[in-house]
Amino acid sequence: MPEAYGLQRQFFEMLLDSQWWSTEALRDYQRSQLSQLLRHARANVPFYERRLDALFRANGDIDWDKWGEVPIVKRQDMIDHRQAMQARELPNGHGPTAVFKTSGSTGLAIEITSTAIAAVADRGFRWRVHKWHDLDWSKTLISRLGYASHSEWFGGAEALGIWGPTWDSSAKQGAAWMMDRERPNEDVFGVLRRHHCTYLNSGALSSHVMARDSVRLGVELRIEAILTQGNLVRQADRDICRQVFGARLIEHYSSKEGGQLAHGCPLGKLHLNVEGSLLEVLDHEGNPCHPGQTGRVVITPVFQTAQPLIRYEQGDLATVGSPCACGRTAPTLDGVIGRSISLFVHPTGRAKVLSILPDDTPETLQSVHLQVAQVGPNAYELRYQPIDWTRFGDENTVADHLRDLLWDDIEIRFVRRRDLALARADKLIEFVNEWSGPVAN
Ligand SMILES: [Zn+2]
Repeated sequence: MPEAYGLQRQFFEMLLDSQWWSTEALRDYQRSQLSQLLRHARANVPFYERRLDALFRANGDIDWDKWGEVPIVKRQDMIDHRQAMQARELPNGHGPTAVFKTSGSTGLAIEITSTAIAAVADRGFRWRVHKWHDLDWSKTLISRLGYASHSEWFGGAEALGIWGPTWDSSAKQGAAWMMDRERPNEDVFGVLRRHHCTYLNSGALSSHVMARDSVRLGVELRIEAILTQGNLVRQADRDICRQVFGARLIEHYSSKEGGQLAHGCPLGKLHLNVEGSLLEVLDHEGNPCHPGQTGRVVITPVFQTAQPLIRYEQGDLATVGSPCACGRTAPTLDGVIGRSISLFVHPTGRAKVLSILPDDTPETLQSVHLQVAQVGPNAYELRYQPIDWTRFGDENTVADHLRDLLWDDIEIRFVRRRDLALARADKLIEFVNEWSGPVAN
């Protein structure tokens, strides 16, 4: 499709320029994009017919000082008003659309209708972060983030084709592969080697576990860079991946709802992709946070025109960063706390990432909130706030599930608590590692 190809290239080349624009020029560009989204949503999406009234002056102009008065869209709205949030028609060139589901592991499962233009934008942002870190598109990128049901036929991974821009001559020699995310590390090393993996797409915690397993199993493997997705990248993750694989970690903050939201620059700061979305970090009163403060992430992705999300609470917490010395003007984040997830470690040195319990766990336990905490070398506490303090849920079943997911021999203690202060209001289950032993973090 020559037209789409042209647009893709045009957007990407604009991104290479716009990263150096002045703060004001970037803001003006973002506002012009937002204006189009707001007008489209008001005219074509029943959910937003009146919701944006505060923003519009009598003459139809947008009063940006009133932005904070636009009500926040919650995850629950995506379920309750799914139909009313769909656009009756799309702006020219934005389609076709596709529906994505986000995992309901410990929160609410939702569906989001996305546009082809949002995918064009996301590719542009990814290529830009590749450029920031001098990635070579003629090499091999393996992704460990999806499912690859036929991978056994092809040495453990499915071919995805090239991963750089189609018009780039070196990118034509490159190859991307998808490996099944459920594959154990023992096999992963073989797959990476067979496919000559230069770059790996994976979670920061999963990469951390992989590095530990590599040491434990005596496997030697070099990876140039790991493109991390999903969770906060901690210094400990960076250190172990550099030490074991020689890999640098390049942080990507994205979501199914908002696309590529922010990317790590060469100085390690996470810059917002302001050309594709407005990302706000708000305190508990709804005011914008200042650098150093942590608050709720609220996003407005500008290319999501099939199901507009205007001030949507993403369900993550982020810390606002200060201007970056790299020269890129886009605002920064100091870190994002994504899904509740933690790394648990067994006395044998094995480690596992845990982010889910069976969906019916809160029901089984008759709990409002539940927290799984590692508190000793092999000891865990399951803290929960019961729905009814006079009744007990089925603690044994939940303990069995946890042992299945972690290790058979862990000690589990149940603690009923009234004051379970969860960071995330929309999460019913939280995972934390509080044990400060030699390998925990
Ligand atoms: Zn920077």
